[in-house]
Amino acid sequence: MPDILNYTRSELGQLMTKLGLESYRAEQIMRWVYHQNEQNFEKMVNLPKNMRTQLAKQLSYKPPTIQSESISHCGTIKWLIGCDQKNAVETVYIPEKKRATLCISSQVGCALACQFCATGMAGFLRNLSTAEIINQVYFAAQRIKTLPQCQNMPRISNIVFMGMGEPLLNEQNVFRAVEILLDDLGFGLSKHRVTVSTSGIVPAMHRLTDQCQAALAVSIHAAKNETRSKIVPINRRYDINRLIEACDYYTKKTGRSITYEYVMLNEHNDSTDDAIALAALLGPRHAKVNLIPYNRIPNLTLKPSTSARIESFRRILQGKGIVTTVRKTRGDDIAAACGQLYGQVHERNKRIADYQFLTPFPRNSTAALID
Ligand code: SAH
Ligand code: SF4
Repeated sequence: MPDILNYTRSELGQLMTKLGLESYRAEQIMRWVYHQNEQNFEKMVNLPKNMRTQLAKQLSYKPPTIQSESISHCGTIKWLIGCDQKNAVETVYIPEKKRATLCISSQVGCALACQFCATGMAGFLRNLSTAEIINQVYFAAQRIKTLPQCQNMPRISNIVFMGMGEPLLNEQNVFRAVEILLDDLGFGLSKHRVTVSTSGIVPAMHRLTDQCQAALAVSIHAAKNETRSKIVPINRRYDINRLIEACDYYTKKTGRSITYEYVMLNEHNDSTDDAIALAALLGPRHAKVNLIPYNRIPNLTLKPSTSARIESFRRILQGKGIVTTVRKTRGDDIAAACGQLYGQVHERNKRIADYQFLTPFPRNSTAALID
């Protein structure tokens, strides 16, 4: 039976019409689900009794199975959420003084094999449904209200698609989820506070610009093709020129700036030359740069850049007028920091063949890419 959390407002309206019901019933149902946290149709007392029974036969709600909950000393919480018998994804709550960000997953694993990312190492199994994406937010919002440790913590104000997976390889479900997150009858979040992060799926970035209201973050990680192709293999398919073209299309059409993420890998992408190249690329654009200290992943030989190298990199960018921040690492004691999310991806190679066109190299050779 379809899950109620799969539907946007307009889709639910269409379903009502199909069932012979008034389309405004969709709005009443969304209020119950998202504002009252009620998923049981029998309890939706402003709907006629027989309609409640009819709807209960058409739509279901599947609560998430929480496999584990880890709470960091800094207040960050990570949940491992089961998707089926064997597989699970991770969701991370990151509180600050006045706001809190929920980092959500869009896929079980990821096929893109970036060289510094635990999710990429896990391989790919499948896309999450809209309901599975939305349920991460739905669950977390309620959970933090009841956890004693969270009594004085801010409610979720920001959502970032920076958990497991490449959101723009699951674009339909992600766009639908964004619509529900922004809808007043859904979570009612501001479009400036829901961010889709991509490693650069160029055609989907164009569609995001045209069809989706989310803010855009681009994982750039290098300004030269040679370096980027080594650490972000999707660059071999969509190179920096095409990536920047798609970024320019977004900023021009929406008038919004893009945040560029740059993971700082010691002596791979953090030299003065690298900073100068990045400044030349982004300087003329409406760009913000977020430098992310590399979080170590077991079995990888990569090292984080030293603070001195990060600082000198930051200065070069700022010298060109680019707003540059260094991301604070949060939750690394519970392996919840950027790139540390493995989830549980057991059948990971099951569908990898579907993505071979995107990763034109044998997956098991990726370890050799960085010399
Ligand atoms: N697939 C999307 C979103 C998920 S990854 C993307 O790549 O943008 C979210 C962010 O975490 C990306 O910017 C990614 O480059 C970064 N990241 C991945 N592994 C990391 C690591 N080990 N240390 C620091 N950041 C990492
Ligand atoms: Fe996938 Fe993003 Fe990790 Fe790259 S950084 S492997 S695109 S999740």
